[in-house]
Amino acid sequence: MRRSDSWKELRKELVDRQLIARGIKDKKVLDAFLKVPRHEFVLPEYLDESYNDYPLPIGFGQTISQPYMIAYMMEALELQGGEKVLEIGTGSGYTTALLAEIAKEIYTVERIGPLLERARKILEELGYNNIYFKEGDGTLGWPEYAPYERIIVTASAPSVPTPLFEQLDEGGILLIPVASGFGDVLKRVKKIKGKMVEENLTYCAFVPLIGKYGFKEK
Ligand code: SAM
Repeated sequence: MRRSDSWKELRKELVDRQLIARGIKDKKVLDAFLKVPRHEFVLPEYLDESYNDYPLPIGFGQTISQPYMIAYMMEALELQGGEKVLEIGTGSGYTTALLAEIAKEIYTVERIGPLLERARKILEELGYNNIYFKEGDGTLGWPEYAPYERIIVTASAPSVPTPLFEQLDEGGILLIPVASGFGDVLKRVKKIKGKMVEENLTYCAFVPLIGKYGFKEK
């Protein structure tokens, strides 16, 4: 068997056992997970663990997110296909690729320059041409291209950063983990007639969002 066949089989196993078996139903999300090669985004020393359902280190104290949690967040984003999406926390670029499989344009912001450059290189080599990259403090959003129909934050904040809500389109959805006394709570925020309507979806664990409207760097 060629190695590419076995990666494909491992992706199928991940989708069947960790996503479908645990309740993910959105076909667009499942198809994106079947297609995007997570092994291209992990560090070489973790290659054999590429399709295991947990986060892995990517350097600089950061991680590539757990597949199930990203699938859960993507389903909760209710993507239809034509959206402009702002992603805060590019990390490895894996979530960015999954989003780019479904949405129209992804604007992704990462505060750690070398991580952003590594992700940019991988995503360009994979042929994505609907992703725009920015190095900087994502708690400020990316005002030049606002509003966004969807915003996804993959690091845990002390509260919903005001600039992100301001840059969310009317009727848009923002997903963000917010620190609480019991770990992080994944919040879904909708903008309805300009007002913030919040729901707590589930508990989760993310690295901290560091920035002006996030946590202070230690
Ligand atoms: N979803 C990514 C993936 O699949 O590889 C992993 C994201 S990782 C859990 C969180 C990322 O958020 C880290 O790369 C971290 O540097 C970044 N981050 C933290 N605070 C940030 C901020 N204010 N602006 C932009 N990125 C930030």
